[in-house]
Amino acid sequence: MPTYDESNIFARILRGEIPNQTVLETEHTLAFRDIRPQAPVHVLVIPKGAYVSYDDFAANASDAEILDFNRAVARLTRELGVDLDSGQGFRAITNAGAHGVQEVPHFHLHILGGRNIGRMIQ
Ligand code: C5P
Repeated sequence: MPTYDESNIFARILRGEIPNQTVLETEHTLAFRDIRPQAPVHVLVIPKGAYVSYDDFAANASDAEILDFNRAVARLTRELGVDLDSGQGFRAITNAGAHGVQEVPHFHLHILGGRNIGRMIQ
């Protein structure tokens, strides 16, 4: 696993050095609006811990962090009005490493919705 880069933009957001549009904050998790939204709803969910990518988080985060993260995702889909009970739905994506075309090396989950996102995998 690459060494975590403390100067990455999401680490700076977590330290309060860069403003963000927070939509949810819990003990271990922060969710904020993507600055270049690709859909009417485009939120990034990040753990507060220093994890480079999804596999790093899944392998090395504590049970409490993983539970908190996943419960935050479920709560967000409801609060953003894209959960299945709303009749809308959403897509959750995470990019990892070079082939995943990951831009920011702090694990984040994109939640996209508010329109039909279309198929990515045929
Ligand atoms: O490719 P990756 O999944 O790493 O994408 C990073 C995302 O972070 C992009 O969608 C970009 O718009 C977003 N971003 C942001 N705020 C920043 C820098 C990047 O929301 N200050």
